[in-house]
Amino acid sequence: MTGQPLLNVQGVETYYGNIRALAGIDVEVHSGEIVSLIGANGAGKSTLMMTICGSPQARTGSVIFDGQDITRLPTHEIARLRIAQSPEGRRIFPRMTVMENLQMGAGLDNLKYFSQDVEKVFAMFPRLKERQGQRGGTLSGGEQQMLSIGRALMARPKLLLLDEPSLGLAPLIVKGIFEAIKKLNKEEGLTVFLVEQNAFAALRLSDRAYVMVNGKVTMSGSGMELLANPEVRAAYLEGG
Ligand code: ATP
Repeated sequence: MTGQPLLNVQGVETYYGNIRALAGIDVEVHSGEIVSLIGANGAGKSTLMMTICGSPQARTGSVIFDGQDITRLPTHEIARLRIAQSPEGRRIFPRMTVMENLQMGAGLDNLKYFSQDVEKVFAMFPRLKERQGQRGGTLSGGEQQMLSIGRALMARPKLLLLDEPSLGLAPLIVKGIFEAIKKLNKEEGLTVFLVEQNAFAALRLSDRAYVMVNGKVTMSGSGMELLANPEVRAAYLEGG
């Protein structure tokens, strides 16, 4: 890989009160890559995603996006730089319809693209088209996940952050969602940084990956290298 990374996380430490959740993280994501972050519960994966989005902020170290230091920017300014997040637990708006959720994702900046972008999301997730008038809170788990990703895409992101897109979903739905992510990456060059407990699916999908243990990156490599690594296999792929 050459050139400047799109996202460059260097020496980041993040605390909750006096508990250190990230203990000096270095991670890079280049334009056009799918990069994943795997690790056990409590390793700090979600905290890293949230730190990139500015809440909580890193106490030390830096987060550089597209050449700009965003470490101390408020979350709404980070979002305006076109980093979109589909957070763990999806956080869709339960009382709003599918269409209204997608409108919220587009925001005022992208309204002129709304109809074209909504058609793209519906082409990717036809189920959302069928359910466009239904309230978010009454969708199934898989449909809510599709909506969460669709909503993030409406922001026309340069970087899409996905926190546990497979959580609680049936294997077939996970497959569909991962295929949709791959397609977006291949066809539109979308850059994706993904947190996953489903290490097998994540490593297969990813160009590169990082393994996190107790707030630190302990290993990194291509998806294929890590899939073949005996330590990774023993810790994260047993039975996978
Ligand atoms: P999981 O896969 O279970 O979601 P994770 O790798 O995403 O785990 P984090 O949610 O980032 O891990 O948590 C990292 C550490 O920070 C954990 O020890 C957790 O208990 C702690 N932590 C997370 N959120 C908070 C919070 N709001 N207040 C205090 N501690 C927190």
